[in-house]
Amino acid sequence: MSARGPEKRLLTPEEALGRVLDGVVALPAEPVALDAVAARILAAPAVARFTLPRWDNSAMDGFAVRATDVASASETRPVILPVSGEVAAGHAAAQPMVPGTALRITTGAMLPTGADTVVPVEDTDALPSDAALPSRVAIRRAAVHGAWVRRTGEDVTAGMEILPAGRLVGPAALALLAAAGVDSVLAHRRPRLAVIATGDELATVGGPLGPAQIYDSNTVALVAQARACGAEARGLGIAPDDLAKMRALLVEAAADADVVVVSGGVSVGAHDVVKSAFAALGRIDFWRVAMQPGRPMAYGRIEREGRPLVALFGLPGNPVSAFVTFELFVRPLVRRLAGHPDGPARPTVWARLLEPVSKDPARRAYLRVVVMPDGRRRNAFVARLAGGQGSHVLSALAAANGLAIVPEGLPGLPAGAEVEVLQLDEEGA
Ligand code: AMP
Ligand code: MG
Repeated sequence: MSARGPEKRLLTPEEALGRVLDGVVALPAEPVALDAVAARILAAPAVARFTLPRWDNSAMDGFAVRATDVASASETRPVILPVSGEVAAGHAAAQPMVPGTALRITTGAMLPTGADTVVPVEDTDALPSDAALPSRVAIRRAAVHGAWVRRTGEDVTAGMEILPAGRLVGPAALALLAAAGVDSVLAHRRPRLAVIATGDELATVGGPLGPAQIYDSNTVALVAQARACGAEARGLGIAPDDLAKMRALLVEAAADADVVVVSGGVSVGAHDVVKSAFAALGRIDFWRVAMQPGRPMAYGRIEREGRPLVALFGLPGNPVSAFVTFELFVRPLVRRLAGHPDGPARPTVWARLLEPVSKDPARRAYLRVVVMPDGRRRNAFVARLAGGQGSHVLSALAAANGLAIVPEGLPGLPAGAEVEVLQLDEEGA
């Protein structure tokens, strides 16, 4: 494997992302059953097997009639029709409706031949709760031809493309596929992502905690961030600051995963072994990005014949930096692999700062903010800092619903300045 030397120059976040995504295409498509396709991306259009509705059916509990038979009906002069039978959802009518009569019908039941209209039970003298079939019914309101009838094919036609390739399958799309008789679709394979934490100071969440130790909070956060953007993710545990052990864990991770995310150990400290471990396995692509938080960062790829690429991320260990760099660099890669058509990864809004902010002029800052509607202006937002901006301050990260982007070249912004804010999900991922 060839290891490229570290780059001295700082990369802009765009350059870094460009290198991460360079040449990356969606993972292969595979047939997926409906119960496993939620949150995956269609690799081919889905085509309806059935026309929907499959047959004319009733939109109400009531009486199937011919519109001409009830044309003169009114509250004061109801039309009385004999009830010649009943048709319930799930049962086809035994025989066609005799003209001049009515058939009791339930919502979703097939409209019997001979009927063209449904009169809701509320427009008759029948009681909705009646179990016994009345022998006659008084229709108290005229109905237009076709009223309360769901027409064959008004939703979907058999053979029609109901969902395009590139579409994320959510609950509504699932319902459409199921109704149209599509029980399996072609979807992109989900990216597999492995998370490794590094540092002698780290202890597994819930386990014993030595006097100089802290809990590994990055693994749970990164796994959750990865799942939220469509990956199958798992944490592989904590690697101590030891090159051989780090390398062994990386090899294990890369055997199965498409993306390996390591947090910590990427700065220039004597114990920072991640870069050496990456270099031993593959190609290191870049080192430093002009952003705050998150400057020390490593990215590499392992390329092996006959296998899709394995991407290696060495994210900073500070929890806020790990979160933000995942957001900016790992999430777009996961989405690309999962088959998301490209587009802005996150919606942004412009907001007016409620307080002044300061930052390192050399780097672009992603400040943790709370963004909310401006009570005084329509379609406008305001933002305030969610708390301390140190890259260890988790309370502010958890309180934030956005990352305010303050460009490089500026020492900060005054109160009242407009700032672009990247919106995070409600779940903070
Ligand atoms: P490093 O990038 O290894 O120099 O770590 C930078 C800071 O992040 C240090 O304060 C570490 O203790 C902390 N840190 C590293 N990894 C984790 C982790 N998995 N969970 C919580 N804090 C971490
Ligand atoms: Mg460390």
